[in-house]
Amino acid sequence: MADVHNKDQRRKNMRAIKSADTSIEVRVRKMLWHAGYRYRLNVKSLPGTPDIYLPKYRAAIQINGCLWHGHNCPQFVLPKTRTEFWKNKISSNVQRDLRNIRESKQQNVRVLLIWECAIRGNGRLEPDYLLKLISRWLPTDDSLSVIDKQGIRSTSLKDLKAQFHEALNQT
Ligand SMILES: [Zn+2]
Repeated sequence: MADVHNKDQRRKNMRAIKSADTSIEVRVRKMLWHAGYRYRLNVKSLPGTPDIYLPKYRAAIQINGCLWHGHNCPQFVLPKTRTEFWKNKISSNVQRDLRNIRESKQQNVRVLLIWECAIRGNGRLEPDYLLKLISRWLPTDDSLSVIDKQGIRSTSLKDLKAQFHEALNQT
């Protein structure tokens, strides 16, 4: 079968996805800043270099693109071309995400994972509501929560693993 995406094209696609991920991250960042929260960005000494880290709450906020990080949601659709390539790529991102969360737990760093679909696209959460969810979570002692279109919920590594599995094995 013909390879419709040559290497350059693929690299371009990946860059586009990555920079889109960055823009949703900036939205959350600005929102928190305006609400008076102070944080550090891309702290390299913490597992996975979290996007946003709030030392006061020992909390890392990670904003994940649905395709790039394998969210089991309508926004995640495996590309029809080079499907295996994408699957492998996303799988290794997912493995890394899980490892980072595990290591964060070990270092007593709490993790809030926010999916792209909660911030952008059909059915996204109202920004005020999103901020409210984050603000409520920060002072708790919950070690791992997820925000998606349905709102916020506390979760476990095991449940996260299961949702990744479902996303990557969709037909
Ligand atoms: Zn999603």
